[in-house]
Amino acid sequence: MIAFDLQCSNGHTFEGWFEDGQSYEKQMEQGLITCPICEDTSVSKIPSTFAIKMPHKGVDSSDNKDELAVISNNILNFIEKNFDDVGCDFAKEALKMHYGVNEPKNIRGVSSREEEKILEKEGVQFYKISVPTRSDTEI
Ligand SMILES: [Zn+2]
Repeated sequence: MIAFDLQCSNGHTFEGWFEDGQSYEKQMEQGLITCPICEDTSVSKIPSTFAIKMPHKGVDSSDNKDELAVISNNILNFIEKNFDDVGCDFAKEALKMHYGVNEPKNIRGVSSREEEKILEKEGVQFYKISVPTRSDTEI
């Protein structure tokens, strides 16, 4: 469902609900849309304000933002739970595993640009993710 903000020629504004944009156009053409206040049929759409009704309630741009935050928090939580934090030794530890000195495991940590170059040269597979700042109070 799409809600359009509509305005009649007398300046009354009201909300009209339609299946989609096409059904609005159709009803408009047939003069089926009337102002609920003065029953005027010359109604026009107020541009740029519309809402698309989603299957579950309360989805707007700010909620999407929240969902994204939840998703990225989940990824961070997953990494924190499943990857050992080796901190600044990331490159060293990665190389040790690469050469079979240490048992392979998931590690996370920080590395400098120079260290990354060495890892690339040695053919060590690693992924770089940027860690968004998050407030720990939310968790
Ligand atoms: Zn009106």
